[in-house]
Amino acid sequence: MPARYRHIIWDWNGTLLNDVDFSIDIMNGLLRRRGLPLLDRARYHALFDFPVRDYYYRLGFDPARDSFEALSVEFIGGYDERRWECRLHSGTRPALTAARAAGISQSILSAYRQETLHEIVAHFGLTDFFLRLTGLDNIYAHSKAELGRAWVAELGLPRSDILMVGDTLHDLDVAAEMGVDCVLVAAGHHPEARLRARTPRVVPHLEALLADAEIFPT
Ligand SMILES: [Mg+2]
Repeated sequence: MPARYRHIIWDWNGTLLNDVDFSIDIMNGLLRRRGLPLLDRARYHALFDFPVRDYYYRLGFDPARDSFEALSVEFIGGYDERRWECRLHSGTRPALTAARAAGISQSILSAYRQETLHEIVAHFGLTDFFLRLTGLDNIYAHSKAELGRAWVAELGLPRSDILMVGDTLHDLDVAAEMGVDCVLVAAGHHPEARLRARTPRVVPHLEALLADAEIFPT
């Protein structure tokens, strides 16, 4: 059976990179410095959403004291300073390897900064898996959809041949804007129940995606 898709567009943070607990830890630094209630995984999954600006204020930050821009700079600064502590998900390398073996080309579409994305993907020795790494050029995490649409046009494949794999409902929306199918992995920044409320195409982890014979024929 041939693979159903000829190209996979991967999200990075939360999907290939296992940075949920790490992100919680960095945000707890900001909260602790202001005497605000800290996050655990359950509270993070209840509150984290896009746009990120609203999420910041749900955490209790006072907009009169801390602008969203200043909080973003503080969070990204803390994240970047310790980013080498992050690990890949256990299924990341096997999934990328299986896609390559199946003749499926791959790329990354991320809200991470372009330069930092290149650097961290190279750090894990993954650069050669991808045709293209597309990140955002500023740190305020606006939509990936515009970049995604341009990349899909450049790829020149029928949209039905392209699969987006992400970890949040934002990825589902971006995929819809690109006109491509989407599978969500519930091991990242949105909890499984929230993902399942919007799409049946949810897997618990990348190992389960790997077991999908339609995507990765054996
Ligand atoms: Mg993500």
